[in-house]
Amino acid sequence: VAADAVFHCELAWLGGEQPVADVRVDVAGGVITGVVPGTDAPPGAVRLTGVTLPGLANAHSHAFHRALRGRTHAGPGTFWTWRDEMYRLASVLDPDSYFRLARATFGEMLLAGITCVGEFHYVHHAPDGTPYAEPNAMGNAIVAAAGEAGLRLTLLDTCYLGSAIAPDGRLQPVRPEQRRFSDGDVHRWAERASQLGEQPGHRVGAAVHSVRAVDPASIAGVAAWASERDRPLHAHVSEQPAENHQCLAAHDLSPIGLLEAFGALSGHFTAVHATHVDAGDVSLLASAGAGVCMCPTTERELADGIAPTDRFRDAGVLVSLGSDSHAMIDLFEEARAVELDERLATLVRGNHRVDDLLRAATAHGHAALGWPEAGAIAVGRRADLVTVSLRSVRTAGTPPSAVLGAVVFAASAADVHDVIVAGERVVAGGHHRSIDVAGELAAAIDEVWRAVEQSS
Ligand SMILES: [Zn+2]
Repeated sequence: VAADAVFHCELAWLGGEQPVADVRVDVAGGVITGVVPGTDAPPGAVRLTGVTLPGLANAHSHAFHRALRGRTHAGPGTFWTWRDEMYRLASVLDPDSYFRLARATFGEMLLAGITCVGEFHYVHHAPDGTPYAEPNAMGNAIVAAAGEAGLRLTLLDTCYLGSAIAPDGRLQPVRPEQRRFSDGDVHRWAERASQLGEQPGHRVGAAVHSVRAVDPASIAGVAAWASERDRPLHAHVSEQPAENHQCLAAHDLSPIGLLEAFGALSGHFTAVHATHVDAGDVSLLASAGAGVCMCPTTERELADGIAPTDRFRDAGVLVSLGSDSHAMIDLFEEARAVELDERLATLVRGNHRVDDLLRAATAHGHAALGWPEAGAIAVGRRADLVTVSLRSVRTAGTPPSAVLGAVVFAASAADVHDVIVAGERVVAGGHHRSIDVAGELAAAIDEVWRAVEQSS
């Protein structure tokens, strides 16, 4: 629902290097129609105490991974052993349990100030690979979950056709635990994806799971589908060195090089992770106007590595942020990790400006998800607002001149007090308007793990 309202922000970040005091934000039909700094609150205005930012965009999510939190982090192993545990979980989801798990996870995102999510969605079919009677039953469950939670969604419907690149360059077939991800071929993927509808607050995009799971001709097919419709196109790229080695051995190209050769790179393209990319890869992304979505918490957690954010900055490749595996859902943590991990890698401080880190969490994420009209507090933009308390134990004592630094380097998702989507208050005082988020998370996660126990 798009609302009319007047908000008065104690402080608001309007895109500059400092926030601005006493900002009135007028909203009509869910769109910002006036932004007036340095003014008193008019009668009836909703007062937002703290610093108000544009809504945050979580540009890379797999909602069901939320059920892995705490269960897979402490042990040894690698990305690949983590993935086996993730597959056990994926094997038991059905449209009803996925709806409940996704609604609770999206509720957690709203409590963290996330007003737009890109769901990289590949659990399409029944566990044995048979399509449901409604071929988009799982995707529709995600859409319904986002609608009930109250955030914007771009459903990035993901093509997933194989399990690995064989040395001859062909794809190895999906393994039994991957059957439900595959449509069989790119034509059947396109046919199903074309049946996905859109509503206000919900858009459709496309994804190539990775060069490990989609062959070059099919990459071209997905890219054509997205480009004909002007839709975002995302792909997991070079998260692990092994993917680069297999791709080079089979195709004599890096994953980015292969995606470029088969038409995937454009201003609508986002390379997710882009951890192990070289100067040539970054220049291909830059020439195409493509972006990168980093998921630093997941990349740390899975021992992936650190992406070259200095190269992205120098080449003008815009970075957006994602919580991906949901080891935690906190875009302030993701934003500061871009800078802090770069410091560890280069032994240099101050690599990224604090307002640029906030743009990664807001405008760049919305652009990557096909919502260029959201992600800024400005006339004509969507009225998505997030207020961060400056009176919590983490933020108290911050002078006005240091507010943005305190938000990026010290605040947490728990400091988000108010969240407005399209002019409607979805979170007030740190509480979701309709969902008991912690209770629903506990119930939904317990339900899916009991199903895993029964199936093994
Ligand atoms: Zn991912």
